[in-house]
Amino acid sequence: MGTGFLRGYADLTGFKIGHFIVDSLAGTRNRAPLWEITCGHCRVSQTFEHRQLCNALESGRPAEVLFCQNSRCRCSRKNNVDETPSLFEIRQQEREKRKRAAQQEAEDKARAERELAAATARDAALAPLRAEWAEYSAQQIQAGTPLHEIAPLKRWVELSDSLRERIVTAIRKDQTIKVTGLRR
Ligand SMILES: [Zn+2]
Repeated sequence: MGTGFLRGYADLTGFKIGHFIVDSLAGTRNRAPLWEITCGHCRVSQTFEHRQLCNALESGRPAEVLFCQNSRCRCSRKNNVDETPSLFEIRQQEREKRKRAAQQEAEDKARAERELAAATARDAALAPLRAEWAEYSAQQIQAGTPLHEIAPLKRWVELSDSLRERIVTAIRKDQTIKVTGLRR
């Protein structure tokens, strides 16, 4: 096999590249040499492109970048470090997913608790106002104030504290008093 045939390509015959020994030129592909090489472990003969072998040599760690094409060989890709991180990554992704789901659940629970507490606080704050309003509206109905003049609870809670206090004081003093002008 004359090197002249290679036309600008290094003759790799006899080179040891990682786990492999280059046996001979197997042919060409896109005008570049294809090399017949033997795996030092499983002894399976296989072909590699010139570029693949050169890249492996130039990497300085050919055993880590050039894999045996026999999938049952321990020099094949499945046994290499490449596979380990992907499994590791899958587990990590699963852990992240579980973590995010747990976080979301905790956040939802905390929000529901905050909303319930706020609603309870609103109800508690409203209780005395509601009692005052019940007293006011019952008295106004008794006094004969037209219904459209009686403020609903919603309006009652909007009144200022001092106005509500004056009204309650007035109706307790005089049960016949009519309060008008509260409705908007
Ligand atoms: Zn092999």
